[in-house]
Amino acid sequence: MRIDDLPIRDDLRGKSPYGAPQLDVAVRLNTNENSYPLPDDVVEAIGKAVQAELRDLNRYPDRDAVALRTVLADYLGHGLTTDNLWAANGSNEVQQQLLQAFGGPGRTALGFGPSYSMHPLLALGTGTEWIGALRDPDFGLDPDKAVAELAKHDPDLVFLCSPNNPTGTALDPEVITAVLERARGVVIVDEAYAEFARAGTPSALTLLSEHPRLVVSRTMSKAFGFAGGRLGYFAAHPAVVEAIQLVRLPYHLSALTQAAARAAVAQRDALLATVEAIKEQRDRIVRTLRERGYRVADSDANFVLFEVGGDQKIAWQRLLDQGVLIRDVGLPGWLRVTAGTPAETDAFLQATEALK
Ligand SMILES: *Cc1c(COP(=O)(O)O)cnc(C)c1O
Repeated sequence: MRIDDLPIRDDLRGKSPYGAPQLDVAVRLNTNENSYPLPDDVVEAIGKAVQAELRDLNRYPDRDAVALRTVLADYLGHGLTTDNLWAANGSNEVQQQLLQAFGGPGRTALGFGPSYSMHPLLALGTGTEWIGALRDPDFGLDPDKAVAELAKHDPDLVFLCSPNNPTGTALDPEVITAVLERARGVVIVDEAYAEFARAGTPSALTLLSEHPRLVVSRTMSKAFGFAGGRLGYFAAHPAVVEAIQLVRLPYHLSALTQAAARAAVAQRDALLATVEAIKEQRDRIVRTLRERGYRVADSDANFVLFEVGGDQKIAWQRLLDQGVLIRDVGLPGWLRVTAGTPAETDAFLQATEALK
């Protein structure tokens, strides 16, 4: 029996699940993970925090993860408090919950591609119609064009991604403001890579106090090196948090996850210490590829999008043949590489020599 033999929803027929190929190669630079394992003292702190929960696992966890939301508010600053924060198992779940509350059947969500491929998939899963508007050919987004798309489609939700995955560049705050002023519905700014932004790149957090329908989505999966811990969160007006509590599963965030994430946030200086080193490797990749004559998108993230020309699948395979796994994001002629350790950058830059 196959999927299509099941009485599955019509809109899921013929679809394939999200997922980058996880191949067992020496250098894995395909999913924008933080390449650095957690330092020993952080491992110990998280271990203790989790241990302290074990005896009480007969009880349900704090449904509203209040203690965790409090430390996340403190981390973000900008005058935010517990009531402004919400957390779930990854920012993917946070965004799914937002779609459950503000999207759904008969409603629409609009995003500007190329962008994070999970946004349309989360819309699909929640029965929200996806409207795929486009960025400019240089991957920028012009405020007037963005506003024109909103006027044309009048979506219930807008997804903006800044710094944008897979192109790497942060949005001009002018674009976000223009969208916020025109949008009727909820505007989600996915800032999964905010901690890697180049100096002088403001976060949309600065706009929260003036825009009650703005939601800024963050994650511990990238800069914090906590992808396996599964913790995403958002900051928004307290009413948005209350709306999410209508759709979230009770006890969605386990006591172990909450404890581990609280301990990780408490150790944030040690965890975020890798960010500068990763940014150095990112800038080195951008610089070196440009010196070699490649077109490279500016990056505010922990990855770099570069143009290989022709069929990018061939270049992707050539790098894989040399033990370097990067990402074909389905953008004709372009590939994306995660910035990792200096040794990983060496291996990637050496492997790309064979492409020219
Ligand atoms: C990696 C990434 C995320 C992270 O998702 P989690 O569920 O928090 O691991 C979110 N948004 C974008 C754009 C990403 O690239």
